[in-house]
Formats: sequence, C-alpha cells, structure tokens
Amino acid sequence: MNMSSVLHRSLKSTLPSVVGGEGSYLVDDAGNRYLDACGGAAVSCLGHDNAKVIAALKHQLDQVSFAHTSFFTNAPAEELAKFLVDRAPEGTGAGRVMFLGSGSEAMEAALKLARQYHLERGQPERVRIIARSPSYHGNTLGALATGGHAGRRAPFQPLLMEVGHIEAPYAYRLRESGETEADYARRMADLLEAKILELGPRNVMAFVAEPVVGASLGTQPAPAGYFKRIREICDAHDVLFIADEVMCGMGRTGSLFALEQEGICADITTLAKGLGAGYQPIAAVMAAEKVISAIETGSGTLWNGHTYMSHAVATAGALAVQQVIEDDGLLANVRARGGQLQQSLHVRLAQHPNVGDIRGRGLFWSIEAVADRDTKAPFPVERSVAQNIQAEAFARGVMTYSAQGCADGRLGDHVLLAPAYTSTPDEIERIADTLAAAVNAALDAQA
Ligand code: PMP
Repeated sequence: MNMSSVLHRSLKSTLPSVVGGEGSYLVDDAGNRYLDACGGAAVSCLGHDNAKVIAALKHQLDQVSFAHTSFFTNAPAEELAKFLVDRAPEGTGAGRVMFLGSGSEAMEAALKLARQYHLERGQPERVRIIARSPSYHGNTLGALATGGHAGRRAPFQPLLMEVGHIEAPYAYRLRESGETEADYARRMADLLEAKILELGPRNVMAFVAEPVVGASLGTQPAPAGYFKRIREICDAHDVLFIADEVMCGMGRTGSLFALEQEGICADITTLAKGLGAGYQPIAAVMAAEKVISAIETGSGTLWNGHTYMSHAVATAGALAVQQVIEDDGLLANVRARGGQLQQSLHVRLAQHPNVGDIRGRGLFWSIEAVADRDTKAPFPVERSVAQNIQAEAFARGVMTYSAQGCADGRLGDHVLLAPAYTSTPDEIERIADTLAAAVNAALDAQA
C-alpha cells in the first residue's frame, strides 16, 4: 500500500483503508473484517451501519445541513437538548445544552463556562483549576493543561496554563492494605480539599474529573462515596464540579450518565463519544441551573462560540442514536454483556502472570499488564507492551485500544475494551478469547 497522503498519528506506519461497516464489524479495502471491540476510542456504541441513524442523517441532509447559530436555531438541536435535559440526573442540566464538535472543544467550553460563572457573580479572582492525575481531558491546550497525563503533556509543557493536580483513585496501586473502601474513598477525595486550601479557596474556579477514568487509567471507577465527598467539598468552597463524561457518558458504564451511579450531579457535564456514536462529530456541554441563571441574570451572553455549534446533521444523528439506545433498551444489554465480559476476562486472564488488574464498569473494561504481579512493577515503556497486545489482537481481526501508562513509570500498560451496546454474547466471547490470545502472543514474543 502507498504511504498515506493524510497526516495520521503515526507517520511511519501504513493503515488499512476502511470501506464499510457491518454491525460491530469494519471492513477494509482488501475485504478483511475487524470486530470493533473498542468503538475506536469508546465512540461507536451502535456499530457501524445503524439503519435508523443513517435514515435520520439522510432526512436532515434533505432539509438543511448548516445554518450559523448567530442567525438560527434548528429542530434537531432543540429536540436533542430537550432529550438530554429530560433524562439527565436532576440538577445536571438546566434548560440549555451547548453542542460542539469534539470532546476537547466541550472541555474548553466547560472551563470557559466555569470562568464566566464566577465573573458574572463578581468573583474574578477565581481562576485556578484543579484536576486529577492521571486523567485525559483532550488535546487542545486548555484541555491538555487540565489533563494529568505526563506523556501527552511533556512536549507542550511550556505552553500549558498552570493547573493543580491531585491523585485520581486507582485501587490497584493506591488503596492501602487493610484500608476499607470508605476510608480509601475519603482519603482520596480529601486530597481535593487540601489542594483547594493550598491554592486559596477564593482562587479556585473548578474541579474537573472523569466519573470513570478512560484512556489514561484504563476504565477506572471511583470507590463508593468518593464523588459524594467531592460534591461536599466543592459546595463548601463554591468550586464548580465539571464532570468529563466525554468517554464514560451516554450509557457506556450502564447508565446514561456515569455519575448517576454515584448519587450526585455535576455543575457542568461534558459529553461526546457515545452521544453521536461516531456517525457525525458531536459533543455537548450541560450546565446546572445555577450556572445558566448566573449568565441569564448577568451579561445574558455566552462568552464562547464555534462555527459548527448545533450542527443540524450532527444533532439529528445524535438524536437518532439516543432514541435507538432508549427504544431498543440497550442499557440493559450494556449491563448484561458487561457482566459477561467481566466474567470472561476473569476466566481467561485473572491468573495470567502478567495481568495485574482487570477493572471497569458496564461495557467499559481494561486489563493492566505488569512485568511482575507480586511487586506490580510495570514493563519498561520501551517494550510497548500495550501496543503489542493491540497489534496482536488487530492481526486476529479484533480492535482494542491500548494506552501505555503516563510515561512516568507509575502505571502499567493497559488495553481497553468498549464494545458496541448492541454486542451479542458470541461477540463478547470472541473479544475475550482474542484478547487472551493477544496477551499470550505479545508476551511470549517478548519473553
Ligand atoms: N475527555 C475524555 C475523557 C476523553 O476520553 C477524550 C478523548 N479521548 C477527550 C476528552 C477529548 O475528546 P476529543 O478527542 O473528541 O477531542
């Protein structure tokens, strides 16, 4: 195959060219079929050829595709906003939702919204953001600065605004032996209070966290009670809580909003991948009543805007995606197939000498590969273990998503699975079988 004219992430490798999608499978120009076990990056939650979504997109193309939001709103965007507001945990969404093109854009918008909230209320000194490490919040400079991912930040460090980071819960390595889950949750959440006090409570604008950490930490849920304590701390200091549900939201963890399972709601919520399931690029920012009303009663103007906001085709597609998820009862399948995937991974890999941890929630699971199970020592980064497992699985026709720690030596390699919500029991078995074969092949090859 010729070198690609498109600038992809890797300039050294050639990629197969995708020409079709059939349910959970993608097909390349040589006719090879790949079972998409990771939704690309936890995006394609309805497979690749959903008839209802495609019909909705075609219908909207026949009406109108784009009209700038300085002049018009449009029906699919209005309907999608209402759909989300009606289903969000009480308090999450006020009357209004902002639609953007990507998760990074949504994170930038969330940070700016938090800044605007405090400015509207006469607190301009609140400029400091606190986030967690490891975490990933996007690739644009503000989102990258917010994320706690050493490897991705490193080349751009001089360009990044200062953000305070606290450690994210990571039971496999951070929960002390003998520590109860409640004590562990409290200890991890209280790191936020300490950081707020360190930065000066009146200077802190927002705390940002993924309810279930995705790409940076391999599908890591928080311990029970963690987010309740986070909510208390944010309320006590008038700090806005921004939940980044870009990857874990829209059903991926078994509930439409991942935070539903924590019994609290955020002040600002970002959504993206599962929102449009990849049929069109789309992201959303929802904000609680107090944030919206501060703007309504203040300047009355959103200090943020992008050309493709509320794109009619993108919102029509996302609305159809969400209707399919609801009408077909797919969250029940996420939970059922998720339980199956968890069990299948445990059966095949829990005793493997180089698999240290298997973790996740819903249809969002990861394995963490380590050099030594007793010491939990990670493999050296240069061995590219996660990438090699991904390559072995891909060679066997299954797509998985590899992430190699944070390049700071604190994390093992992990391989993430995020199959479609429509997955069948047979597909789940094939995913678990292939991942186990790929782990064996990648580690044997390195032995
Ligand atoms: N936040 C989280 C939690 C993500 O996983 C991602 C993407 N992996 C982003 C933000 C950024 O989204 P995008 O790549 O669409 O800009």
